[in-house]
This record gives sequence, structure tokens and C-alpha cells, in this order.
Amino acid sequence: MSFKRRVSIVNYKAIGMVPEDYKCDHCEAHGVKLWRQFQTTADQTNLLCAECAEVEGREANHKHWQSPFKKGIGKQIGLYIPAIPIEGDNTYWEIPIPEDGWAWWNSLPVNNN
Ligand SMILES: [Zn+2]
Repeated sequence: MSFKRRVSIVNYKAIGMVPEDYKCDHCEAHGVKLWRQFQTTADQTNLLCAECAEVEGREANHKHWQSPFKKGIGKQIGLYIPAIPIEGDNTYWEIPIPEDGWAWWNSLPVNNN
């Protein structure tokens, strides 16, 4: 596999500040919560917004499929987990994610609507 991207460098104290390249690979939504593929290296993962991850989940399952996140009972969307960059580093947290990482991610809206 070839190099896909560097992971965005974030500063957790800058709540609501989103790196330019932290955006959805499908619809290019920016400034929103993103998810990444579970157990995929940081430079190879897809980054998807909630809606695009839901679409992938429906395509992989059935047209009425809904993620735990959509149902309000978790953060996972199919094979996607929250994409929370490790502060000042170019990789993402695996579970467990520390509180300040959650705080940064939770400050972002689900979508731009
Ligand atoms: Zn999207």
C-alpha cells in the first residue's frame, strides 16, 4: 500500500480548531467529527464523516442498517471508530482514548447542517 496522508496535528486546548486536512474523504465535510477504520494504520485509513460512514455501513449490510452511533448507544459506525489524532503526533488513539482527546472530538459537530 502506498502512503495516503499524514495525520493532522491537533492541539486539544484549541477546542473547535480543526486542521485543514481533517476532512471527510468522500464529501470533504470539514469542521465535523470524523471516523476512521478500525485497526488500520494511521496513514492508510479512510476518514469519513458520520453520514458517509453510515452510507458505507448500509452498503455493507442492508438498506435499513443503522450504526450504534446513529441509535445513540455508542460511538462506532460499522467498522469505523472515532478518528482522534494524538495531540502533537501523527497517529490516532486506539481505545482507550484519553479524556482530553474525547473533549476535542466531542466539541466538533456531527455535520455542518
Ligand atoms: Zn462525508
